[in-house]
Amino acid sequence: MARKYVIGGNWKMNKTIAESDEFLKEFKKEIGDLSKHVDIIIFPPFTSLSSACKNLKGSSIHVGAQNMYKEKKGPYTGEISPKMILETGATHVILGHSERREYFHESNEMIAAKARLAHDSNLQPVICIGETLEQRNSGQTEEVLKKQLHGSLGGLTPVQMQQTILAYEPVWAIGTGLTASPEQAQEAHQFIRSQLSSMFDKKSAEVTRIQYGGSVKPQNAKELFEQADIDGGLVGGASLDPDAFMKIIQKVPQ
Ligand code: PEP
Repeated sequence: MARKYVIGGNWKMNKTIAESDEFLKEFKKEIGDLSKHVDIIIFPPFTSLSSACKNLKGSSIHVGAQNMYKEKKGPYTGEISPKMILETGATHVILGHSERREYFHESNEMIAAKARLAHDSNLQPVICIGETLEQRNSGQTEEVLKKQLHGSLGGLTPVQMQQTILAYEPVWAIGTGLTASPEQAQEAHQFIRSQLSSMFDKKSAEVTRIQYGGSVKPQNAKELFEQADIDGGLVGGASLDPDAFMKIIQKVPQ
């Protein structure tokens, strides 16, 4: 079954509203009909969501938030709800990025609760998983991925799973300039897909899109995207530059 490629640009805590507007003006001009072959999602900071959605109105480029809380409303200072995100026009949300897991101590259970609420709210989640270098070097990669998958996807139905995007992001490759080799990435993606088959069903394993993330650049994107189980990329650093981000999107096989 053919899965449509999906490329996300995770801007993290970068770009003011003015900088975001400037990027999108240039990016929109250059995208042409590329977004017919590939889903493109820009994840700006919360403050730029509304203006990014206005800038991209009429284009097929999607906008997503980088996080949300697991409750619909209430006394959670500093947090943001799915309804608030949807109101900006955004359609997607990243959940469980390794920086959230590491610096904000987000557990698999917390991420699963957010994922269920995202689906109930009609926001499409992009759920991140991945091992540290220490875990990889001590042969624990599959065990770690299995635990993250079981924990972070807990309570999702097969249909919700099929509408979830997974991002395999080895922690040691994020923002470090180190990239998993195409073979290492393919091996992990294949393992993830086999887990989806046993956790959900065969269809979920076939349909769910799995992005690779971790220092994706114009120079390494092609070989990564050519792997059988890699359905695109979640791009951090290189998505801050419209030219580099565009070059990565152009590497998607057509
Ligand atoms: C990310 O933030 O999800 C990421 C993969 O970052 P980078 O591309 O900078 O490694």
